[in-house]
Amino acid sequence: MLSIESQARVALDVRCFYRKSMNVPLSEIASLFCPSGVSPRMLNHAARLLLLAAAFALTSCASSGGVARKDTSRTFTTVVVDAGHGGKDAGAHRRYGPPEKVVTLDVAQRLNRKLRESQFRTVMTRTSDVFVPLDQRVAIGNRQENSIFVSVHFNDAPRRRIHGFETYYASPYARRLAQRIQRELLTLPGARDRGVRTANFRVVRNAVYPSVLVECGFLSNRKEAAQARSAAYREMLADKIAKAIVEERYGPGVYNAPPQPVAPPFQPTLGGGPVGTGRSR
Ligand SMILES: [Zn+2]
Repeated sequence: MLSIESQARVALDVRCFYRKSMNVPLSEIASLFCPSGVSPRMLNHAARLLLLAAAFALTSCASSGGVARKDTSRTFTTVVVDAGHGGKDAGAHRRYGPPEKVVTLDVAQRLNRKLRESQFRTVMTRTSDVFVPLDQRVAIGNRQENSIFVSVHFNDAPRRRIHGFETYYASPYARRLAQRIQRELLTLPGARDRGVRTANFRVVRNAVYPSVLVECGFLSNRKEAAQARSAAYREMLADKIAKAIVEERYGPGVYNAPPQPVAPPFQPTLGGGPVGTGRSR
């Protein structure tokens, strides 16, 4: 039996899993199982129960699913940079924050540039606001010999006070990289550690090469959403992740941060005032 806290955690994990792996609105899932004429509140309740059931199903299928994982953590020459969501899939979109797909692309582009400056070959799964299915992202990564895969996301929670960094992995070969990225992110001022975790997200589960998914803070939290709106802060996020990747490959002390902040690759329209959320609340 799970405690209330654990149940909440499981529900959160599954919300996140569902978001990253299916890209279907919650209410649509619920409506598959509920007759018409049912109130939205009941649909919401049904969806929560379904997600809880899915959580228990997931815990029993955590195997690598036939993926032959390779350890390139000390040899990689290519980094696949994956900007979460895009196009019709906006990702998390909360009252305080910009759409997740906008800030993931911005951080990914900054990260991509820093990695190139550090002499890595890089491949981005998307470079504009387009929808790329998860399996296609995985396939792009698996085609790159001697690579690692880094997926950039921002987080979302029903409770606004929840905040902090999380880094996920599935392959044991990606564990050290995940820990390194998390450790670097925690050097940012006011950073909170929500842990390095294993997860069944498709982009880490089905990856041949070491693959991590970084949750760069909660757009549902006022402070972290405000940080996500700041280009200077997104530059710092990219810098920390780049440093961790360079040190994973070449050891500590090798990474050279650029002497001055580099101009952002684009200035996304992040909006000013509060925006409504189309999901979850
Ligand atoms: Zn996301």
